[in-house]
Amino acid sequence: MIFYKTDEEIELIRESCLLVCKALTEVAKVIRPGINGMEIDTLAEQVIRDHNAVPAFKGYRGFPGTLCVSPNESVVHGIPSKDQVFKDGDIVSVDCGVLLNGFHGDSAYTFALGEVEEEIMELLRVTNTSLYKAIEAAEVGRRLGDISFAVQEYTEKTHNYSIVRELVGHGIGRELHEAPEVPNYGKRGRGIKLKEGLVIAIEPMVNLGRREVRTAQDGWTVFAKDRKPSAHYEHSIAIRKDGADILSDHNMIAEAIESNPNVNKVALKSLVTQ
Ligand code: MG
Ligand code: MG
Repeated sequence: MIFYKTDEEIELIRESCLLVCKALTEVAKVIRPGINGMEIDTLAEQVIRDHNAVPAFKGYRGFPGTLCVSPNESVVHGIPSKDQVFKDGDIVSVDCGVLLNGFHGDSAYTFALGEVEEEIMELLRVTNTSLYKAIEAAEVGRRLGDISFAVQEYTEKTHNYSIVRELVGHGIGRELHEAPEVPNYGKRGRGIKLKEGLVIAIEPMVNLGRREVRTAQDGWTVFAKDRKPSAHYEHSIAIRKDGADILSDHNMIAEAIESNPNVNKVALKSLVTQ
């Protein structure tokens, strides 16, 4: 069942999403080759708790972290750990969720550390752009499939990457994951009609190589079977009368990256669009 949100509820979800982005922004300020997944997880948890909120992922079905930290071939759900020491040339997907005032926020960003191969930077740009193409399709009266189609068309048809099928975006609100599922592949004109008050997290997961994924021995980390890099960006949005309202804020993350010399800026310039 889909729970459509009132304007008041949307504002509460926005607050939660902004706190998520604040945590990701603190991560953006410090992430660099040589630090590890546990360090950024501890930092993010502190930011969230300082705002009297709860890390939504921690304890979710037993997940141990505040963040999902998924480097390189890891697609999503990487467990933050001391063993994840970031290297020059890595890309790191960092996903965060919070619960504040009864409502969830959810957003993710993939960081490019140091000198990242141009082929991989292009994967990041295209994945990020596909998220905005999906958001453009999120208009009252259109269909959920239009959102899915927008991601698939741009990443698979235009750029020959692969969309992960096993993991999808989702409704968000009182629960972290609500109906409807928001796949990153699909057909135009299919699925539910988009109505005012629908709040969803759109999160393209795009592989440089083939689309097949596996789950690691840790029971969580989803990785590309061919071990090629995978990118992930996520916004939570509300459908409003006059178009999509982006509740999360990647501009503050992008600004933090500007002042962090360890994060690749050449391509990240083009990721600033919001
Ligand atoms: Mg997320
Ligand atoms: Mg999500």
